[in-house]
Amino acid sequence: KNFVDCGFHVPLMNAIAKQGYEKPTTIQCQALPIVLSVRDVIGIAKTGSGKTAAFVLPMIVHIMDQPELEKEEGPIGVVCAPTRKLAHQIYLEAKKFAKPYNLRFKELKAGCEIVIATPGRLIDLLKMKALKMFRATYLVLDEADRMFDLGFEPQIRSIVGQIRPDRQTLLFSATMPYKVECLARETLNDPIRVTV
Ligand code: AMP
Repeated sequence: KNFVDCGFHVPLMNAIAKQGYEKPTTIQCQALPIVLSVRDVIGIAKTGSGKTAAFVLPMIVHIMDQPELEKEEGPIGVVCAPTRKLAHQIYLEAKKFAKPYNLRFKELKAGCEIVIATPGRLIDLLKMKALKMFRATYLVLDEADRMFDLGFEPQIRSIVGQIRPDRQTLLFSATMPYKVECLARETLNDPIRVTV
């Protein structure tokens, strides 16, 4: 398996090569074709597996596939992560691949194509009406088990409820405790499960 098999655009292939990513990792091999086929995915994978690129690369493809990108406001891709530290790491990974496309994105702020933040921060922005979700069609819940451990379940449910149901949803988790399984059943549409 190779990144070429994913059918990525030339700028994205160049950005991948520039990062020195020669071959997709196991989770990337399994998840990328499914995510790119616009299916919901439950990814059971830990940090270090390359899971971030498994949702970031298709997110960029998803955004570039949107017609009339400039006309609307609010993020298209929303990534929810348990801590600001992880949100920042995802931001750094996304920045590498979003660069050739001039996509606007922020770890926290609105007015961009991608938002990466903790559930608490996303709720604050939504309450302040600083973030509009009507354009959001690609939702990632990263490290879902850790977000539950930190007590973010109500915030996650609120965020999910404010994003249109015709979205694509990806849930990544190192473990699948019962409560995370319930959330996945309620918020993902006929998901495919990948485990590494
Ligand atoms: P993650 O599990 O997403 O936190 O990724 C762990 C590390 O692997 C990060 O430093 C990534 O930049 C790196 N990485 C992700 N995918 C690949 C790949 N296909 N080849 C080489 N390194 C990668």
